Amino acid sequence: MTVLRVPTSVLKAARVFFEEQGSFGLEGTAMIAGPDQPRLVIPDQNAVRIRHGVSVELTAKGQFDLATELAGSERFVARIHSHPGEAFHSATDDRNPVITFDGALSIVVPFFGLGLRHGLDACAVYLREEGHWHPLPTGDQRDQWVMTGATSVHESEGGEYAEQPDTSMASARTGDAGAHHG
Ligand SMILES: [Zn+2]
Repeated sequence: MTVLRVPTSVLKAARVFFEEQGSFGLEGTAMIAGPDQPRLVIPDQNAVRIRHGVSVELTAKGQFDLATELAGSERFVARIHSHPGEAFHSATDDRNPVITFDGALSIVVPFFGLGLRHGLDACAVYLREEGHWHPLPTGDQRDQWVMTGATSVHESEGGEYAEQPDTSMASARTGDAGAHHG
């Protein structure tokens, strides 16, 4: 299997959706279809807040959405969902039947999606192997399976992303210096 390159545009779409859900204190879940032109698929879902936490599950329409979504050679290569706090695979996540083939990936985004502002490195990533989910620590182990990568279509967007933090940090430093002098 070749490494899955998730475009920054896909991660951004996921973050926007998760943050919107998070603004209501709710989790969100989505799928990544691929592997060639990875794209985000957000199925109809029902997120609830329960006494000791939150949960989200697909509606019947959502299950139908997924069953009819894929075109041609596509398949769902990864699940991506948000948690209120830390990113880890819960027992419920382990049992989730939506994607279970060997080589499937599961990405858990911390802090109601806000973690994606720091990219995949801030997320927990799990690999399905021999019927179980195994964590992929950041670094070489994870990079063999999934990386953030701009497709040719989205390269210019990736470039803008790279420049923005530099600009804001530069102005922040200027602000600090000014404050000290004042
Ligand atoms: Zn979960």
